[in-house]
Amino acid sequence: MPCKLCTIDKVHSFDFMDPLEDGTLVIYTAPSKSKEDTSRSVLHYIDHFEDTKPNKWFWILDCKDMKSMNLLTKYNIDLSIVNLIQTTYADTLLKIYIINPTWAIRLLINFIMPFFSSTLHRRLVCIEEIDTISILKAAGISDKTITKILE
Ligand SMILES: [Zn+2]
Repeated sequence: MPCKLCTIDKVHSFDFMDPLEDGTLVIYTAPSKSKEDTSRSVLHYIDHFEDTKPNKWFWILDCKDMKSMNLLTKYNIDLSIVNLIQTTYADTLLKIYIINPTWAIRLLINFIMPFFSSTLHRRLVCIEEIDTISILKAAGISDKTITKILE
């Protein structure tokens, strides 16, 4: 089902960037750039995952300015995202690039890591700020997209 909020007004940042040469979609999400306050959770984006079907896709999750979160209450919620990614999107979501990770995001990732399949371990890339350009370029993401992401 498409996201109700975004059918009325484009509330969430779930942006289709230039696809890769092989047609893989490149989706950019920045919760802090959403109109709604989604800065605490990426749960709001689940409805948007459907928009990628049936294509393969990369997800660039920009954690810039995401607020620190209560890890205990977020735990179940974020685990449901992990499960969704590992089941429904196991064949299509090829890479998750986390950029500008805050300390809370790093902590959360470490916390939920034991629930990741080995495939998801390989697909999740938490990028240090200094390596952002080189890693995204190496992944085949266009200069135009990288410039837009970093602005
Ligand atoms: Zn939406």
